[in-house]
Amino acid sequence: MSDAKNGKALVLFSGGQDSTTCLAWALDRFETVETVGFDYGQSHLIELACRERLRAELARFPGWEAALGPDHTISLRELGNISETALTRDVAIEMADNGLPTTFVPGRNLLFMTYAAALGYRRGATHLVGGMCETDYSGYPDCRNDTLQTLGHAISLGMAREFTIETPLMWLDKAATWVLAEKLGGQALVDLILEDTHSCYRGDRTHRHEWGYGCGTCPACELRANGYATWVAART
Ligand code: ZN
Repeated sequence: MSDAKNGKALVLFSGGQDSTTCLAWALDRFETVETVGFDYGQSHLIELACRERLRAELARFPGWEAALGPDHTISLRELGNISETALTRDVAIEMADNGLPTTFVPGRNLLFMTYAAALGYRRGATHLVGGMCETDYSGYPDCRNDTLQTLGHAISLGMAREFTIETPLMWLDKAATWVLAEKLGGQALVDLILEDTHSCYRGDRTHRHEWGYGCGTCPACELRANGYATWVAART
């Protein structure tokens, strides 16, 4: 755990493995941490439903209860209406002609960060934390470090306040994300992430695998399963 905690952070918290690890990272590092979730009509609303339980459980970790502030939800339903994507419509999950998976929602992370900054401006939170990463990122261009750091500059200029976009997972693969979780909260955090986070694109909570719940075949499940297997193999 960090010795001195400073500053106020707003974590983009979906209830998935990555954003839960980011929330733990922020709780360990900042004096106050608030969370924000976005409802953009995604077919896996179950992720949003996991958030409340995860927040309650994270508040039980030593030193984290005092840091955890309010949760916010922002509706971005229009994003679902204007995007042709497997996350918001009944479209098959596959690679599209543009080389990106059909789960790509154009501009999603740009909008999320900008909305988070607008909320952070009011709440006095200038550290915006997101689980984007360039290693296992399915090629989403709005997960790239260059994209997000450039956006951070634009937001700081446009709001005349210095915002920092923090992406603790940017250079980690899924196995390394488990290493980080264990370092932050030990086996208890690993168990919490396994049981209560949700990443499956199909919103499947009926099949429990050793790596958690999910359909087991969508790209998000494959990433999560492979990352967990790699991490477990490296531990033994
Ligand atoms: Zn799945």
